[in-house]
Amino acid sequence: MKLWDLLFPPRCLLCGKLLGRETEYCPSCRKMAQEATGVVIKRFGDESVANASYIDSAMAVFDYEDVKESIHRFKFRGSYGMGQGLGNLMAEVAARSFAYLLHRPTLLLPVPIHKSRMRQRGYNQAALLARALRQTTQIPLEEDLLVRLKQTRAQMELEKEERLSNVKDAFTVKELPPGAIVLLVDDIYTTGATANQCAKVCKRAGAAEVHVYTLAAAKRKD
Ligand SMILES: [Zn+2]
Repeated sequence: MKLWDLLFPPRCLLCGKLLGRETEYCPSCRKMAQEATGVVIKRFGDESVANASYIDSAMAVFDYEDVKESIHRFKFRGSYGMGQGLGNLMAEVAARSFAYLLHRPTLLLPVPIHKSRMRQRGYNQAALLARALRQTTQIPLEEDLLVRLKQTRAQMELEKEERLSNVKDAFTVKELPPGAIVLLVDDIYTTGATANQCAKVCKRAGAAEVHVYTLAAAKRKD
């Protein structure tokens, strides 16, 4: 066994269980990953989805409840190395269920974190997922065009009324190629308020379409 493995024993990408001879996933999570068909939040062209008026479509890989342990480790416990595997999984599920997400967009934009959070965490989890997607799709990735101006609180901690004001005017986009078809990448889709604000600034900057793809979709409490 290598020293690295003693210090950081390999864990299942999705449930965090220590792995024996398996790689990447424990047997039950491997099955879950192989069978995942994704979660539809908003179909392409569907108008009647709350908090998604600027979003053309929104898809996720899993229900948040199924992967919350994984997302917590990825985001809050410094396990940035998980980004590659989780991003690869996003690409696999897109190929299986949402192939248009791999072919239609012309630009990948990760939902940004505020610079103070970047200093504290050291990485933007959404950007790590987007990098893995870029490798598979060859779609150009721009990590610095979309900027978070305000340090916002985690949407999941907030009540419905607070969520819109929390992210209002929180984002700006420097510039976009005219007519860009954006694929916005994030770890969690909660109410859509964050993604919709990002989509709004992208549309105002000339994007033709904004699609959203996240690792997890949280069930709406409202
Ligand atoms: Zn597992």
